[in-house]
Amino acid sequence: MFGFFNKAADDKTTGLVSKHLLSLDTEKVDWSKKDNKYWKSVLTPVQYNVTRNESTERAFTGQFWDFKEKGIYTCSSCGLPLFHSDTKFKSGTGWPSYYQPIKSDNVGERTDSSLGMSRTEVHCSRCKAHLGHVFPDGPKPTGLRYCINSVSLNFKKEE
Ligand SMILES: [Zn+2]
Repeated sequence: MFGFFNKAADDKTTGLVSKHLLSLDTEKVDWSKKDNKYWKSVLTPVQYNVTRNESTERAFTGQFWDFKEKGIYTCSSCGLPLFHSDTKFKSGTGWPSYYQPIKSDNVGERTDSSLGMSRTEVHCSRCKAHLGHVFPDGPKPTGLRYCINSVSLNFKKEE
């Protein structure tokens, strides 16, 4: 009934939890076997472009850069916990920024030499969704700045 309205809203926000994850037990899915056809069918166009084509959402447009609730940020593709709000800080960049992952095993790293720069790309270690980049100019205690696209994230409020 509200299909047209929902479609328009989808390109601006994912909601706090991606729709395809609402009805799944995310621990029981073999996420490594999912292909781009699957991702295209369940993600919004913006989510797909960022997480599977490594594009970047425009600064100050995502839903989490200025979001201050207490809780856990999870992968918007597969639901894996990635960051805790306690490690989020105000970076001024327009993207949500954290100084460390919730568990180092959950966030993978790779050297990214695109755009003529050497940067460290970060992704979800379970489903390989591109999240953003990590830079060595963050605050204490790690000195790291995980610069993450909002559309790569979901949010679970802490009770
Ligand atoms: Zn994932």
